Amino acid sequence: MQTQQSKFAFEQAQAVFPGGVNSPVRAFKAVEGNPVFIDRAKGAYLYDVDGNRYIDYVLSWGPMILGHAEDRVIEAVKSAVECGTSFGAPSPLETRLGQHLQERIPYLERMRMVSSGTEATMSAIRLARGVTRRDKIVKFVGCYHGHSDSFLVQAGSGVATFGLPNSPGVTEATAQDTITLPYNDKASLQTCFEEMGSDIACVIIEAVAGNMGLIQADHDFIHVIRELTSQYGALFIIDEVMTGFRASYTGATGLYGVEPDLLCFGKVVGGGFPMALFGGKKKYMDYIAPMGAVYQAGTLSGNPIAMTAGYETLVSLTPEIFKDMEGRTSQLCQGLKELAVRYQIPLQVVQVGTMFGFFFNERPVRNFEDSKASDQEVFARVHAGLLKQGIYLAPSQYESNFMSAAHTKEDIDQTLQAFDTVFGEIYG
Ligand SMILES: *Cc1c(COP(=O)(O)O)cnc(C)c1O
Repeated sequence: MQTQQSKFAFEQAQAVFPGGVNSPVRAFKAVEGNPVFIDRAKGAYLYDVDGNRYIDYVLSWGPMILGHAEDRVIEAVKSAVECGTSFGAPSPLETRLGQHLQERIPYLERMRMVSSGTEATMSAIRLARGVTRRDKIVKFVGCYHGHSDSFLVQAGSGVATFGLPNSPGVTEATAQDTITLPYNDKASLQTCFEEMGSDIACVIIEAVAGNMGLIQADHDFIHVIRELTSQYGALFIIDEVMTGFRASYTGATGLYGVEPDLLCFGKVVGGGFPMALFGGKKKYMDYIAPMGAVYQAGTLSGNPIAMTAGYETLVSLTPEIFKDMEGRTSQLCQGLKELAVRYQIPLQVVQVGTMFGFFFNERPVRNFEDSKASDQEVFARVHAGLLKQGIYLAPSQYESNFMSAAHTKEDIDQTLQAFDTVFGEIYG
């Protein structure tokens, strides 16, 4: 496999961007080798600047659920571009996508479109604080809710990958308003509410965490959050930026059958364009300007191209297509489990809907501490071995991997063969 052009591109990029990248985990710091630079993508495949093809399970970190450059989305986007790329005024494209979302997620009584997941979660906690007139928020260790200051306290994703407990640049005062608790731990949540319940504006969670590896919250845990927040007058926010239309056909709320007060979506809803949203109960969303006094705005919010790509993506994503994707994810996970048995590898394979992950760990992984205790050296070697064989997985064990509608049975077979070869090299 040639990698000269990627190496050269990386050198050049390092003279322009810190670390050569515009988002940290892309730099491959937690795995071996250098990042590959992408030339183009189609369907389930990425093609790098050296002409290598990869079966892509990162899918732009989740959004490309139909596969890259899907025909229907591309056609619709081309037509939309001809009509203007930003209006800074309302258009029916926003309402069309919003209505479709309301049909899928009845909890979205009102919503606000924004341009990134970070913006969605940041705005949602501002709203929760504005509604409750309280300052403190509760988040869970290893959950990632974007990079706004309040959330960079014991966060997952790149923050975990680089071993940063808190980010420099976040003030002491801000960090103090963020209470972090262990994931899946009912007792500590209970105690926290008993001690500080009347100061807590909201609890925010990835109900299926994808940013400390893939870890699912217990049903119990989610329902206890619902009960305690209601009891103490705090808002319950489910961050579905990653799980939205992946954890199940209707996302994480569909899995748990729970009604949050506010939800955040991103990634898939933008169909590969910078787009996200937060929404929820009307009585709370009416606090947002211009209805209410909680300020939130955006020059490119409701961008017509993003609205079009998001809409076409979601209407293409039928229950049948979702079920197929889920089936192929199971095929891959089942194959991985069989390989683990054959090579006697202590491997935990996790699947939730069209998301999957694995930990080199003897025991099931239930929280960030468990995730951290997994063998990251082996992960790094496996990642490098797979990349050489044209399999593109998330370059950190603290990330989830994803399936698209474009992945075929043959792609999965080829992926499992590559795992077989790499496990053979390491464990054979
Ligand atoms: C990706 C992600 C975010 C942040 O979204 P950006 O668009 O990267 O700002 C927030 N929450 C979760 C759960 C995510 O996975």
